[in-house]
Amino acid sequence: CRKWIKREKFVGFPKRENLEIVEESLPPLEDGEILLEAVYLSVDPYMRYGRVYNRKDKDRDDIGLEMPGTQIARVIQSKNPKYDVNDLVLAYSGWVTHSISNGEKGIHKVPVNGSLPPSTRLGIIGMPGATAYFGLLDICKPIKEGETLLVNAAAGAVGSAVGQIGKIKGMRVVGFAGSDEKVTYLKSLGFDAAYNYKTVPSLEAAIKESCPNGVDVFFDNVGGDFFGTVLPLMNKKGRVAICGAIAEYNRKEPLSQTCPINHLILRKQLNVRGFIILDWVDDWDKAFSNMIFWIQDGDLKYRETVFTGFDKMFDAFMSLFEGTNIGKIIVKI
Ligand code: NDP
Repeated sequence: CRKWIKREKFVGFPKRENLEIVEESLPPLEDGEILLEAVYLSVDPYMRYGRVYNRKDKDRDDIGLEMPGTQIARVIQSKNPKYDVNDLVLAYSGWVTHSISNGEKGIHKVPVNGSLPPSTRLGIIGMPGATAYFGLLDICKPIKEGETLLVNAAAGAVGSAVGQIGKIKGMRVVGFAGSDEKVTYLKSLGFDAAYNYKTVPSLEAAIKESCPNGVDVFFDNVGGDFFGTVLPLMNKKGRVAICGAIAEYNRKEPLSQTCPINHLILRKQLNVRGFIILDWVDDWDKAFSNMIFWIQDGDLKYRETVFTGFDKMFDAFMSLFEGTNIGKIIVKI
């Protein structure tokens, strides 16, 4: 088994030397256990700041532990009657090539011949897809036809699904992303307007131009100064989903710019809500049935940026912060 172990705390942007690849042999299987071999691994922004399942761990820096994460794995040995060799599973095993599971905790079967490729369980019909679905339809409700939705990191796994679900619900959708290629992609997905936030002369002017009636729903993946720029342009009784703050994850210093956020939220009677998608985990499958239907109808499209090889995990992870991905990043073994 090969594993990526965290050796040092991340300070600012993660560095390759903060992690180490180690080799270990696994013990023979006991009754009830299965041996898993990774096929596709996910990299996600939350990995920057630690495990999500063990919140009570004192050591939030995870030093000495493998990097956390979900993977699609193949069962290669089974001493559990519920699993056959060659079954595919979604497992929360971390950045590892092989692992042993008791077949119960943090593991779900994935259809081998499902209507969509298995890797989509890490993306559009996985955690990022559920985040888009519930973050928009639940956190930002009521969703009204003709209202304006603004989403940033819009070409990513979550953002690209948010914008398209907004279109399915009849909203006017405006997206911001970090390259011209991403802007072209967003337009091909049906976004009403899309901008490269790195090259617009003024973010505020671009929002005013593309949202002449103001912003009703703001799905924020970025935080920082982006959040401060959009908030004053929100309409009264607007809804804000605080989904992520990727502009802040690697900051060493606190934000330099502040804005009178509390007063704005009060005056505009905004509904601003942070959320963690694991709270909806029992409802994910309902969302995925709708999303599969939309995908089959051609209303919801997805892309994957694929890295090949276990050694590429770190490069794949860093591309989240460098912005080189379009859609969901997958590492294929
Ligand atoms: P993405 O696929 O969107 O990849 C991350 C993107 O963020 C990059 O491609 C880049 O796009 C953008 N980005 C990176 N650094 C910055 C920066 N400094 N300023 C502005 N944009 C930046 O990732 P996900 O779709 O997986 O995640 C999107 C967001 O959703 C993240 O903030 C993540 O933490 C959050 N999230 C929250 C969940 C929850 O339960 N609340 C669950 C899942 C994700 P660009 O080129 O456009 O800059």
